[in-house]
Amino acid sequence: MRYEGQIYRPPCEAHSLIVQVTIGCPWNRCTFCGMYKDRRFRTRPIDDVLDDLRAARHSYRHVPSIFLADGNTIALPTRELRMLLEEAYRLFPELEHVGTYGGARYLAQDLTPPAGDEPPESRGTASSAAGEEPTGADTEPPGDPEAATSWVADDPGSVQRGIHAGKTVGELVQLREAGLSVVYLGLESGDEEVLRRVKKGVTPTEMVAAGRKLKEAGFPVSLYVLVGLGGRDRYREHALGTAAVINAIAPDIVRPRTLYIQEDTPLWHQRRRGEFVEAGPREALLETRLLLENITVPVTLVSDHITNYLPLHGRLPHQRDQLIAAIDRTLAESDLGSLRPAHFEHL
Ligand code: SF4
Repeated sequence: MRYEGQIYRPPCEAHSLIVQVTIGCPWNRCTFCGMYKDRRFRTRPIDDVLDDLRAARHSYRHVPSIFLADGNTIALPTRELRMLLEEAYRLFPELEHVGTYGGARYLAQDLTPPAGDEPPESRGTASSAAGEEPTGADTEPPGDPEAATSWVADDPGSVQRGIHAGKTVGELVQLREAGLSVVYLGLESGDEEVLRRVKKGVTPTEMVAAGRKLKEAGFPVSLYVLVGLGGRDRYREHALGTAAVINAIAPDIVRPRTLYIQEDTPLWHQRRRGEFVEAGPREALLETRLLLENITVPVTLVSDHITNYLPLHGRLPHQRDQLIAAIDRTLAESDLGSLRPAHFEHL
């Protein structure tokens, strides 16, 4: 398999074959994310990806699960995704699952950046952002200074193949029927102000539209939320807004992760300048508690990320009291400063 740069995938895709379909993220502006700040977004030529699939067939006897990387691969034209899926299932008859990342921008709306938006402030390093884990693939050196500012695909020969177009419900149905199993949607926050501050590029309303569109197309909806993203001053609004969006979508799974600020990301610089005050473990746990209290729809909570101060796994509403009791016990009894491993910040 050929990989360019550090490869990221959700923790639950740890055992999947990673196939790199796109390189980087077509948005690449979120202030908290350092995953792809060192590279310019582009799609790999479809024939190269198909060659990788064929090479993997020669190398691996049993491939039940594939993850299509990098960020927002759902932005690829539907016909190309279908072609990849069809070839993957043809080559791997044992295949049961194919997952990918899909941001609301590429499910629900056009790629045009909002007026007045600024380019990323730093190039960052190729270290993991919240919600995603590096796979150990090679890391490429930092790209040119303009790379991370680009939201436009820059490889005319292989890139500009309709990535700006959102997906219709009909297209999503086609992808599901072709074997795409899950599209991991990064909600991060349901609070409009928090989303604006972190330059997520979407509003809560658009997040709801994207989540509902996935549901309408028959996909399970798996939402990532980022505890701590509102900082100390906005943790309450962040939790309540996030609960409201979850209630409006009624996803199958909510996956909380907790913010950690990677060096040289825009958010790291904001914290250094005193413009962002990071929530500590107590605030993060209180925020999670508030989130759980305000989710009213049936949903499975999977807190499977290394960033979280407390592993929480359960079904709402039945296990809400149990989960909240676990948070309260931790708040009352633990040395909160030791909840994350000491080496954590260097991961
Ligand atoms: S959080 Fe997702 S959408 Fe935002 S820059 Fe990172 S990969 Fe792209």
